[in-house]
Amino acid sequence: MKMICFDMDGTIADLYGVPDWLEKLHNEDASPYQEAKPMWDMERLNTVLHKLIRRGYEIRVISWLAKDSSEDYKQAVRQAKLDWLKRYHFPYTVAHLVAYGTTKANCVRKMANAAVLIDDSEAVRNGWHLGEVINPVECDIIERLEALARGE
Ligand SMILES: [Mg+2]
Repeated sequence: MKMICFDMDGTIADLYGVPDWLEKLHNEDASPYQEAKPMWDMERLNTVLHKLIRRGYEIRVISWLAKDSSEDYKQAVRQAKLDWLKRYHFPYTVAHLVAYGTTKANCVRKMANAAVLIDDSEAVRNGWHLGEVINPVECDIIERLEALARGE
């Protein structure tokens, strides 16, 4: 199974661009996750993702919940993230919305023998050993995914 795994915050959702996002998270306010603007032209991104799906790729989301949060807040953040993905018609099969700090490879290790990770965190990318890693801060992920769809 070929797979592409997407981080959300700082990769496709501009959480860090929401005013006072950190303070709001500390106050267990989930609104920044709802209000985060998409970081890419979602129509173009979705088009290339559908192309990859037709080429046999599975698209998943692996995203951490907020640091040190209550069970209620974890649930609110989980819902906000699912709402965000739905609002932008992001074509994924499974969203692994996991505790802050979880080793992302552990979420899909059993299902994927080759998996690409797109994630803005260098530490997370360094902990990924299932395949290529893409830094969305340094490249145009749509261009990179187009190349992948062409088999490059
Ligand atoms: Mg991130």
